[in-house]
Amino acid sequence: MEKINIRGVNFLNTTLDGAAEYIWQRFADGEQTAVFTPNSEIVQNCIDTPELYETVNSAEVIIPDGIGVIKAAKILGTPLRERIPGVELGERIIRESAGHGAKIFFLGSKPGVAEAAAEVMKERYPSIDICGCRDGYFKKEGSECDEVVGEINESAADILFVCLGAPVQEKWICANRARLPGVRVFLALGGSLDSYSGNVKRAPEFFCRHGLEWFYRLMCQPSRIGRMMKLPKFYFGTWLFKLKNKNQ
Ligand code: UDP
Repeated sequence: MEKINIRGVNFLNTTLDGAAEYIWQRFADGEQTAVFTPNSEIVQNCIDTPELYETVNSAEVIIPDGIGVIKAAKILGTPLRERIPGVELGERIIRESAGHGAKIFFLGSKPGVAEAAAEVMKERYPSIDICGCRDGYFKKEGSECDEVVGEINESAADILFVCLGAPVQEKWICANRARLPGVRVFLALGGSLDSYSGNVKRAPEFFCRHGLEWFYRLMCQPSRIGRMMKLPKFYFGTWLFKLKNKNQ
C-alpha cells in the first residue's frame, strides 16, 4: 500500500474502504495492526517535539483525519486520496466485526461513556460482541496500567479501541501492544467513544462537507482554542516548508 510522507508522517494513500479492507486483510493474516489517525494538530506536535515521530510512525496504518493534512498534501504536490475520519473508520470496523468473528473492547473516555457507546453500537449492530469496557482515567504506567492490560487480556478482545486523546493513546499503544498479544487491531480514536455514546455530537453535514468541522468543535468547546492555534501554524508552516524545499 502506497505511503505518502506529509511533514514527516507516513500516511497511507487510501480511502475509507481501502483502509478497512487492509485492516481486515492483516487481521485474517494474524498480524497485529495499530491504526493512528493524526490530524494537523498531531503532525504539528511531531514537528514541535520530534521524539513523537517515532511513536506516530510506528503504526502500520496511518490515515489522515482532518482537512488540514489533506490541504498540506495538496500544497506539497503529493495529494492524498481522501480524508478518512477516524470515527467513521472505527464504526465501520465495529459494523464488520461480527463477520470476522472479532470481539471488541472499548477503552477510554470518562466513566460510563464506553458502556454507553457499547449500548448504542449493540443496538445498531446486534450481532457484534463487545467483550469489555473501561474508562480512560487510570495511571498510564505502573500497577494501574498493568491491571488494565490484564483486564483486556482476560476479555480475549481481538480489537481494542484506545480513546485517551492524542498523543497519550499513541504512546500507550506503543508501550503496551507487546503485552497484549491477543489484540490484533488497536485503534487510537480520540473522542470517538464520546461520539458513539451521543455524549458529544459530531459536526452537522454542512460543516464536514466544507472542511469546517474544526470550527464546529471550537464553537461547542471554546476551551480548544489553545490546541487549535496549531492549525494555522501547520498550514503556514507547510507553505514555508514547500518554498524552502523548492529553493534548495
Ligand atoms: N481521555 C481519557 N483519559 C485521559 C484523558 C482523556 O480517556 O487521561 C479521553 C477524554 O475523556 C476524551 C478523549 O480522551 O474522551 C479525548 O478526546 P478529544 O476529543 O480531545 O480527542 P482528539 O481531539 O484527540 O480526538
